[in-house]
Amino acid sequence: MIKGLQGIGMTSPRTRERMITRLMDQGITSHKVLDVIRNTPRHIFMDEALASRAYEDTALPIGYSQTISQPYIVAKMTELLLESSGRLAKVLEIGTGCGYQTAILAQLVDHVYSVERIAPLQKKAKDHLWDLKLKNISYLHSDGGWGWPEHTPYDGILVAAAPPEIPEMLLQQMAVGGVMVIPIGSAIDQRLQRITRTETGYEVEKLESVMFVPFLSGRK
Ligand code: SAH
Repeated sequence: MIKGLQGIGMTSPRTRERMITRLMDQGITSHKVLDVIRNTPRHIFMDEALASRAYEDTALPIGYSQTISQPYIVAKMTELLLESSGRLAKVLEIGTGCGYQTAILAQLVDHVYSVERIAPLQKKAKDHLWDLKLKNISYLHSDGGWGWPEHTPYDGILVAAAPPEIPEMLLQQMAVGGVMVIPIGSAIDQRLQRITRTETGYEVEKLESVMFVPFLSGRK
């Protein structure tokens, strides 16, 4: 085990187990998802000063005005993606951030294509994911509003920042039968939505209220 990966004290396996119990209390039922979260260290994705808070159920700062998604949200979005689709061969993730959600996805699907607009954040994420030996991930520094056309169609798309409406390019890049999980709305009023592409169009399910950072255009 790589130094620091296992964790001690507030980052120990016992603290992680408490997080799993909390996720189950909050309604997460997929054992596949819970197992992967249990076995993935979250503290290594954060600055040392915040590592002791890694297993609290909160969003925490990762620099550049961005936050690591709250464990419950990571679990929920992953569960929503998995439950409505068969085998997920190719998943597009918009908003690599610190890479924690990427780590969870990479252990449950064949390949993750992860797009991030802030280059230094993506670089750090890449290093951490490499330390975890997760190699079925490709990275692109780009505005996720364009998706990643080279690898279409995607069986799943997971968006970790909230646009005011569903980006058209992402709809186009979904496979028939594919699903997209995405927060939609303004800074103060967002709902999680699950979109399924059918033979004839798109089905939209509006789910719970959430709070994500805004989906911004352009690269930094
Ligand atoms: N799941 C990530 C969430 C990070 S926050 C984690 O747990 O760390 C959302 C991320 O989306 C930020 O890193 C932000 O820079 C990125 N983002 C926002 N708008 C984007 C866009 N248009 N294209 C790509 N990434 C975007």
